[in-house]
Amino acid sequence: MKSSPLLLDGNRVAIDIKNQLVGRVSKLKERDIVPCLATILVGEDPASATYVRMKGNACSRVGIRSIRIELPEETTTEELIRAIKQLNDDQSVHGILLQHPVPSHIDERAAFEAISIDKDVDGVTMQGFAQNAFGIAAFPSCTPAAIMEILKYYELPIAGKHAVVIGRSPILGKPVSAMLLNKDATVTTCHSRTSNLEQHVRSADIVVAAVGKPKFVQGDWIKPGAVVLDAGYNPGNVGDVDFEACIPHVSAITPVPAGVGPVTITMLLKHTVEAAERSKR
Ligand code: NAP
Repeated sequence: MKSSPLLLDGNRVAIDIKNQLVGRVSKLKERDIVPCLATILVGEDPASATYVRMKGNACSRVGIRSIRIELPEETTTEELIRAIKQLNDDQSVHGILLQHPVPSHIDERAAFEAISIDKDVDGVTMQGFAQNAFGIAAFPSCTPAAIMEILKYYELPIAGKHAVVIGRSPILGKPVSAMLLNKDATVTTCHSRTSNLEQHVRSADIVVAAVGKPKFVQGDWIKPGAVVLDAGYNPGNVGDVDFEACIPHVSAITPVPAGVGPVTITMLLKHTVEAAERSKR
């Protein structure tokens, strides 16, 4: 009889990491260092405001201080960059998160690039991206880091496996492709212009869905025994994978919600603590 697939429980992974972080934060506090994450919100998008609030709450649960910079919708690129540079210069701030998307009149890339590499805990700068691609110490963007953390926690093998990543965004598809490659997977990165997408997915041992389309990945695309990681988060708490349809085929799968999402926020906390630890040296 076929055994039921392993449910990759993001909450469990997140709790495990948070427990470790509490100890690391206490050690830092013994040295009078309080890890601090600064979040910047430009404008009044309610979803962005909720994400920023959730990140602040998550910080306080492990003893990280968070400060919230709220700027009006009409903020210019120059004003935003000035605010970021002030945080770069503030020794008590260890991580900076610019909530995106920012209003369309702002040059988002220029704003991201203003974040000091030492405080780029969300892996948004080009330098951070490059360091991640080289596999050297940096803070990768948090969702790719979460995907890798889940694979590590459940001891799922990566080396020699064929990983198919659907999506090539600079914050998700591309960095996770690089991270899987750095762990010796053979990686195929698919996108909206990929021909025969289903055929690529059918040959995958590991599937990462980062498409932004609800229930995009179909059950009959999945090779028997594949591991499926769903980074998607669409309205109504729906992932990019048709979870129910994939269950009969997979050996392991992340649900949505409670899969990649909770680990993503935890990676932001982990990076902030790491940035604080590095700052004392
Ligand atoms: P994105 O910037 O919109 O990128 C989507 C990618 O999917 C693009 O590379 C696009 O290809 C590709 N794509 C679109 N339609 C496709 C199709 N029909 N076939 C193949 N590829 C297709 O989105 P993102 O920011 O990477 O986010 C992806 C998903 O992850 C979303 O559901 C988002 O909500 C979720 N997300 C979750 C977290 C989390 O914490 N769990 C964090 C960030 C994002 P092109 O490049 O050719 O356009």
